[in-house]
Amino acid sequence: MNFVIIGAGSAGVRAAETLRDADPAAVITLVSGEPGEPYSRMAIPYILSGAIDEDGARQRRSHHHFEALRVRYLNRVATRVHAGPTGGQVDLDDGTRLDYDRLLVATGSSPVLPPIPGTDLPGVVTCWTLDDARRIAARLAPGVRVVMLGAGFVAGVCMKPLVASGARLSVVAGRSGQILRSMMTPAGSRMLQRWLESRGVEVITTGRTQGIEPGPCLVMDQRRIAADLIILATGVSSNVSFLEGTGAEIRSGVVIDEHMRTTVPCVYAAGDVAQGRDFSTGEWVVHALQPTATEHGRVAALNMAGEDLPYRGSLSMNVLDTVGLISHTFGLWQGLPDGEATEVADDAHFLYTRLCFDADRLIGAITIGHPHHVGAIRGLIQSRRHLGAWKDRLMQDPQMVMEAFVDLNQA
Ligand SMILES: Cc1cc2nc3c(=O)[nH]c(=O)nc-3n(C[C@H](O)[C@H](O)[C@H](O)COP(=O)(O)OP(=O)(O)OC[C@H]3O[C@@H](n4cnc5c(N)ncnc54)[C@H](O)[C@@H]3O)c2cc1C
Repeated sequence: MNFVIIGAGSAGVRAAETLRDADPAAVITLVSGEPGEPYSRMAIPYILSGAIDEDGARQRRSHHHFEALRVRYLNRVATRVHAGPTGGQVDLDDGTRLDYDRLLVATGSSPVLPPIPGTDLPGVVTCWTLDDARRIAARLAPGVRVVMLGAGFVAGVCMKPLVASGARLSVVAGRSGQILRSMMTPAGSRMLQRWLESRGVEVITTGRTQGIEPGPCLVMDQRRIAADLIILATGVSSNVSFLEGTGAEIRSGVVIDEHMRTTVPCVYAAGDVAQGRDFSTGEWVVHALQPTATEHGRVAALNMAGEDLPYRGSLSMNVLDTVGLISHTFGLWQGLPDGEATEVADDAHFLYTRLCFDADRLIGAITIGHPHHVGAIRGLIQSRRHLGAWKDRLMQDPQMVMEAFVDLNQA
């Protein structure tokens, strides 16, 4: 078999390793659109804080990892896929062409720039690649003025190293008026916002951003913010342009089935680029999380190698360290329209717990400041355990979740 993997992030790397395990004789080619060895985007905040250097961001320690696995590793951009009924070809940006029997698309996503003038000015960067991390790190110093446009997950994970560097940080939340809206209730967001403000971060939740002027200077309708650095964290879109003309169905990501097959014969997709199955709902969504990407890569590879392995779905779970305050978001944290939910907040101590139920099963949760509850909550959701009498007790006191977990396990 001749396997080609486009994309050397978590999904692509795990797929290459799994394919080699499954098929010792196969020809495997792993194509990375970026220079250097495969690295983990998750490491970027740790590079910014100086906790690790670039070497520590590499996905595999050995410089000879892929050579030892007999995986051909190419630093090239795929520009086009020619798909046929039993295989096809991939065009690369150096004019060469790779034949494949099975192709894995694991190209992740790229930042979407906001539709305002000035995003290409000096001092304006995204926070997505190792190269972005280098550019940000080069400017960080005590007193430096940093404006972050966007207040989602990626902005959230990057705030800690920015604050730790001594930079003066302003975060512009955009029109939603709420930080971390995709993973927090309004009450949870307000708590995290208060925490950020108590750590000296300015959080701007009103006003419209009109553009960026040289300086750079962020121009809003009611104020201007002069900065040394403006970081754009305003969302991402899937890297799929090279699939044009293949007939691959694309929605919020590449549409796949339970065996990670796209709508094109012999072409599979995995990771952030793919709409994989969600554990909680059974629906097909982009999770944009590293554990999901890794598991996608493994399952896709086994199916490409001829196994029949349906993907059971990944639990959406975000862990966030917002400048020292740890929060977790699990599964269906918004709750069901006709389901029950309970929440308890201790504003003075920045503690918050929300649990959501489907009848007597726990299906979603948010915690702020309670890292010790994580294993219990995850266990109860993933096991789809009937809580019985514990359901009402948890509705009254969600903090009892650890006791419920232990008691149910012992029973
Ligand atoms: C700053 C930051 C912090 C994060 N922190 C966390 C975290 O704490 N926890 C968590 O779960 N997730 C985190 N994530 C998200 C996580 O990094 C992604 O979910 C994960 O990287 C997805 O893996 P992937 O393999 O699908 O895609 P990616 O890691 O994005 O890899 C895609 C690969 O495809 C390549 N590529 C793209 N287009 C082409 C092309 N045309 N030709 C060839 N190659 C191409 C790219 O160069 C890259 O090698 C973070 C992301 C960022 C940016």
